[in-house]
Amino acid sequence: LPDPEVTALTSDDVADLLPRPGAESDKYRRGVVGIAAGSDRYTGAAVLSVGGAVRAGAGMVRFASSAEPVRLVRTRWPEAVTTVLDPSLVLRSSLDEVGRVQAWVLGPGLGTGPEAHAVARAVLSTGVPVLVDADGLTLVAKDRSLLRRAAPTVLTPHAGELSRLLGVPREDIEAERLEHVRRAATELGATVLLKGSTTLVAEEHRPVRVNTTGTPWLATGGTGDVLSGIAGALLAAGLTGYDAASCAAYVHGLAARVASGGGVAAGPGQAPIAALDVAEALPEA
Ligand code: AMP
Ligand code: MG
Repeated sequence: LPDPEVTALTSDDVADLLPRPGAESDKYRRGVVGIAAGSDRYTGAAVLSVGGAVRAGAGMVRFASSAEPVRLVRTRWPEAVTTVLDPSLVLRSSLDEVGRVQAWVLGPGLGTGPEAHAVARAVLSTGVPVLVDADGLTLVAKDRSLLRRAAPTVLTPHAGELSRLLGVPREDIEAERLEHVRRAATELGATVLLKGSTTLVAEEHRPVRVNTTGTPWLATGGTGDVLSGIAGALLAAGLTGYDAASCAAYVHGLAARVASGGGVAAGPGQAPIAALDVAEALPEA
């Protein structure tokens, strides 16, 4: 029987929700997304997250990190405006040097040490929507007080990350995905996107949105980082956390099919993909 508490976006829904520039648009009104990701040890995730945001149509991407990821992002995505974060300013929770943004993406490759914690605190202290992924999720699992904020928060865990967030064994999450994603949304006061072969998006008082546009070819390193950038761009464009997360999952899955040779209407594809291919296929998807 159909479950009224579970729903799926159609391509028409997504077409209606996705922002399109009009004659009056400028880059600021289209949405400026800040990305706090990467560390000198983990640089690639930052390049992938920025790529997702650029190709999803952000008006502007502001990227803030340490020197090495900034160097790589500048090389691969000259479109991004970059800032090497001054650790002393971050310790005072100041991100003023980055400039204004309408939403933040926090976490891919960030690390989980004291400096990463300070970056997380600074980003989550802002009054704009924040999407938290990867190492950012590990940081908020260890320090839930980071989630006490007035602006919307979107969390994008896979089952292992949700297991740490809820303190529930991973097998229990896998066995009851719907129940756990709902519980996380209520308990953490956030929109929660649970990744996997199907993706679930939960928010309190809303039906859980199920996304099945993906392909098993997505099961490769870095694709989740691309998703964080897509959703961040949509948040910055003004979509709600619930709509940004579910539209991002939809186009991310479709782009993976395109990259894999499946085509938008066809099957799941037939060739391996690299995470950056997913970002590059977004315009076609
Ligand atoms: P992450 O776990 O952060 O690397 O993200 C992996 C991405 O690939 C998420 O968007 C998942 O939903 C997606 N994904 C992983 N495995 C599969 C699968 N077997 N079928 C479809 N999508 C998948
Ligand atoms: Mg990930």
